[in-house]
Amino acid sequence: MPNNNNPLTLSAPLSGPVLALNSVPDEVFASGAMGDGIAIDPLNDCLHAPCDGVIIHVARTGHALTIRADNGAEVLMHVGIDTVELNGEGFALLAKDGARVSEGQPLVQFDLDRIARQCKSLVSLIILTNSDRFELQPIASKTVKLGESLMRIALRTSAPVQTAVDNSVTQVSATVRITHRGGLHARPAALIRKTAQGFSSQSQLHFGDKTAACDSLIGLMGLGIGEGDEVRVTSRGKDCEAALQALVAALSVTIQEEQHAPVIATPRRANTEANVLQGVCAAPGLVCGPLFRMTGIELPQDSGNHSVDEQLQRLDAALEQVRGEIRNTLDQARQRKNVEEEEIFAAHLALLEDPALLDAATATIEQGSAATHAWRDAIQAQCAVLLALGKPLFAERANDLRDLQQRVLRALLGEAWHFELPAGAIVSAHELTPSDLLQLSAQQAAGICMAEGGATSHVAILARGKGLPCLVALGSEVLDVPQGQRVVLDASNGRLELAPSEARHAEVHQTRETQKQRRQQQQTQARQPALTTDGVTVEVAANVASSAEAQMAFDNGADGVGLLRTEFLFVDRRTAPDEQEQRQAYQAVLDAMGDKSVIIRTIDVGGDKQLDYLPLPVEANPVLGLRGIRMAQVRPELLDQQLRALLQVSPLARCRILLPMVSEVDELLQIRQRLDELCVELELTQRPELGVMIEVPAAALMAEQLAKHADFLSIGTNDLSQYTLAMDRDHAGLAARVDALHPALLRLIAQTCAGAAKHGRWVGVCGALASDPLATPVLVGLGVSELSVSAPQIGEIKDRVRHLDAAQCRQLSLELLDLSSAKAVRQACQHHWPLS
Ligand code: PEP
Ligand code: MG
Repeated sequence: MPNNNNPLTLSAPLSGPVLALNSVPDEVFASGAMGDGIAIDPLNDCLHAPCDGVIIHVARTGHALTIRADNGAEVLMHVGIDTVELNGEGFALLAKDGARVSEGQPLVQFDLDRIARQCKSLVSLIILTNSDRFELQPIASKTVKLGESLMRIALRTSAPVQTAVDNSVTQVSATVRITHRGGLHARPAALIRKTAQGFSSQSQLHFGDKTAACDSLIGLMGLGIGEGDEVRVTSRGKDCEAALQALVAALSVTIQEEQHAPVIATPRRANTEANVLQGVCAAPGLVCGPLFRMTGIELPQDSGNHSVDEQLQRLDAALEQVRGEIRNTLDQARQRKNVEEEEIFAAHLALLEDPALLDAATATIEQGSAATHAWRDAIQAQCAVLLALGKPLFAERANDLRDLQQRVLRALLGEAWHFELPAGAIVSAHELTPSDLLQLSAQQAAGICMAEGGATSHVAILARGKGLPCLVALGSEVLDVPQGQRVVLDASNGRLELAPSEARHAEVHQTRETQKQRRQQQQTQARQPALTTDGVTVEVAANVASSAEAQMAFDNGADGVGLLRTEFLFVDRRTAPDEQEQRQAYQAVLDAMGDKSVIIRTIDVGGDKQLDYLPLPVEANPVLGLRGIRMAQVRPELLDQQLRALLQVSPLARCRILLPMVSEVDELLQIRQRLDELCVELELTQRPELGVMIEVPAAALMAEQLAKHADFLSIGTNDLSQYTLAMDRDHAGLAARVDALHPALLRLIAQTCAGAAKHGRWVGVCGALASDPLATPVLVGLGVSELSVSAPQIGEIKDRVRHLDAAQCRQLSLELLDLSSAKAVRQACQHHWPLS
């Protein structure tokens, strides 16, 4: 039936108090990302149709359904929050997908008590999912009874206007020139989407005659906006002014994603040597090994005749599986603080949730296709849009879509993702995807070469991060090279040598051998203490986040654990770990470290690291809010429990406790006192050493006073940079400037060391600066005696220490405090203590 486009009044599908969307206890709904709407806290146990219409989607688990009204408005009704986890239990569907229903008809019966007991909230949502076409005006205010008028839905006027539309819905707009390098491709688009989702207003981007909702990644990329293009952004809703401002900022901030990218060279196939393929270097390196050819999934012809419900369910399940896998990858990337990997897979997750993609696949299934074919077709249609834009960066993003095509197809086909990769193989493929690359790296591939792809692709970024030599754009000839043929991949020089002579092989081996030896030599010495040439000992410990990482650190020669981030135990779960579980986890880290000491930092969540089971108030500036030790103000029992668990590890003398985000001496004194009380309760004769993180300028300025009551200080240069320079440490556009070698930071470090020395306390550095070999002489010179680094770098940093003269470091590093910028400091370091 064609849409009649008439205004429509929705009746209340439930009885109960009415809530504004932004007060719903769910970030996604509350942000308006799913569309504009309203919520009801239900007092009855049956959801009714709010209007006449057709059911166009029913969640597999029966907790949500969408009705398309006769005017074309699509209304999603979602019973409770996180009710998907009940997996259908407690829900009885009273109408079928595809059925025509009348206003007031019962649709879903649900078990009110069960949802109240087992789920986050009973609050149920009524969302207008195509709010770009329709707008809504709430009618009911405080409480509604079933069937009473709830809200009015009307078609948006097609010509957007500059200012007020009416008293309740306002629209504003602005024109911006895009400064993102390469235009609005996946990562900037993801930034825009994330920004838009932070507001309840609906925002759109207009370019030429095309428009896209800011919450659709594909829609945004499909606009084909290039660097320097001028676009118009419109925002409509209560917080539209703020949304517009934020979007304008996000559109004009430059993501410096290609900072480390090698220069993109055009492949020079015309004058190639025989048996050499020319490509573009995506990640440098020189390796040789057997070629291993990888292929993608090819689907047979679709037989048709599928049950729509079944195929929709299969697709839902496959998508959920892949989302779970990507979330795992994201968590791991976060734990390893691998920002690039995190960004890439966050964009994948967003693509996987993109309404344009999901709607296209659903529509194809509804026309009788298999889920596999519908998914493939939806992806390929979007790839075609990106490729048709004729811009390389957009074309490369099509590869991210192909990645999702493969992953979801694998999940749909139940195909295990495994293959036997010969040791040291060089993998060739048409074009690999980011998730392929992670797998290959885990399976010890020696190098990668691709027929297509670009040096700015996500695969390239990941390959560089993993140190995996990678050539792209080699042309289809690379796919004809026989499986197993020995080749040399000289990625740095853009060459794939197909028939290397024995002499060439030997040469490559020799070069690699020299590099390896250097590393090995560092590794053999890694377990020895690191002393400067004039006899000053610098302890080189490791930052870890689990007992497995502690084991790796120990094997790599760590002198101890300088920072155990205990958040690993608390995140990604539904309930908090109890005392016993915590004790065992901390004990396992101690056990992994032989007789070395372990510094365990109390939980540093809050702020931007939220836990599901620890709802904290929404904060305007989370990094300036209740994070780290400040959380004890609101949840003292959590810290108490953690301290108890820590006090029960053995031997306790090897455990040191570190407090994050301390900003005044009283915080330290209070916790020290509580620790003493717990020691008495547990009948301990001695409390473990207690240290303070210096990661807030206030703490650095008060170091002397803190050192009077603390046993040691550990400088967190990541946060100290953020708070000193007033630059978000995760801000992509400022990444290059959040440099802890800034002279202001060096002054704070110097002051910390001087303050600690007055009380005979030692100072360590556990922020990322400790892992930067260029900074080693400066830190040693300023008086730092412990460096806590990432495990693979222990040998390298110890080697660096052994080549330093501490007295000379002291003298030269003081001069650096007067330099004009972090860049100047870096140049001076390179001059005084060159890195070979
Ligand atoms: C720091 O801020 O430098 C630090 C080590 O803590 P985190 O990175 O966990 O915030
Ligand atoms: Mg920190």
